[in-house]
Amino acid sequence: MSLDLFLSLRHIHKEFGSFTALKDINLDIRKGEFVCFLGPSGCGKTTLLRIIAGLEIQTSGEMTQAGRDISRLPPALRDYGIVFQSYALFPNLSVADNVAYGLVNRKTPKAEAERRVKELVKLVGLPGSEGKYPSQLSGGQQQRIALARALATSPGLLLLDEPLSALDALERVRLRQEIRTLQQKLGVTTIMVTHDQEEALSVADRIVVMNQGVIEQIGTPMEIYREPASPFVADFVGKVNVLPACVSGGQLTFGPLRLPCDGADRDVKIYLRPEDVLARPIAQGDAHVFDATIEKIEFLGSFCHVHVGSPALGLHKLTVYLSLNFLSEQSLQIGSTLPLKLLPERIKVF
Ligand code: ATP
Repeated sequence: MSLDLFLSLRHIHKEFGSFTALKDINLDIRKGEFVCFLGPSGCGKTTLLRIIAGLEIQTSGEMTQAGRDISRLPPALRDYGIVFQSYALFPNLSVADNVAYGLVNRKTPKAEAERRVKELVKLVGLPGSEGKYPSQLSGGQQQRIALARALATSPGLLLLDEPLSALDALERVRLRQEIRTLQQKLGVTTIMVTHDQEEALSVADRIVVMNQGVIEQIGTPMEIYREPASPFVADFVGKVNVLPACVSGGQLTFGPLRLPCDGADRDVKIYLRPEDVLARPIAQGDAHVFDATIEKIEFLGSFCHVHVGSPALGLHKLTVYLSLNFLSEQSLQIGSTLPLKLLPERIKVF
């Protein structure tokens, strides 16, 4: 890892009684990076974030932040700001007092704290809200203030524990982009816990995909999506068709597909994204083409999830994405047949 290494976790292990929540977590985060911990409920992502914050103590393992061993430091001696899922603002304090909380604890002179509060509420897009109380703010506004409070002392590390999950869909998308823009502007190293893959793909520099207490893969959003390291990652991040195939005599056979494939004869599963099945343009004599019949159309706006069957696929079904324009141009509906082409280079075999 390069010189700008900021946070380093080594062999982090966490047990709650006889239950192992984290197993041998190793992770390096660079200065200024935005990293998402992504995984299903119970995979250990919040526990890992809390260990980094010192709110939970690892059973074994070490951590350094900016070259300092923080493995056993109490939270107050660590250098981070944190935002939780539910609005953890103090309901009896004004916005200004909430934001100034960390500054007052550090005995920042009053005039300086006031200036900083003003700057921060402006930074999160709520100038003039200093005198309001949390109950007078929407959920999204409260999370913006929680963000301002977390950033007040200019921490080296910003920790976000599912900060968007209590918000409605529109506000979630808006605020995640605001957080990303702010993070890039300030250059603050950030870790966000989320179970929402779209959220992680859209904001992170790198994603740490977790499952049952272990890291399944660490990579950029593109790497995670295009080169999933395991069936779990392929399945959890993005939609995927999972289909049985067989390898025999150095060839993988599935429906219309015949591909060279190393290794012994065996049954395998192939993973193919819906967008890697093309409906056009298909030239005469194209390879990997088969006729499919539309069985179901899930209308989602400009794109539809279209479920197809084909004699070439046996009993198996495929989901493909087709644009609404394409469906109407070609007068396609349930029962229509159309040629589809599989992109063999995009197939993952596990
Ligand atoms: P979620 O998105 O649901 O919060 P998560 O991936 O963040 O899931 P964690 O909260 O880190 O998961 O929990 C990981 C596992 O550890 C879960 O099985 C949880 O029940 C268990 N766990 C967490 N905290 C404790 C605790 N204090 N005592 C016992 N078990 C715990």
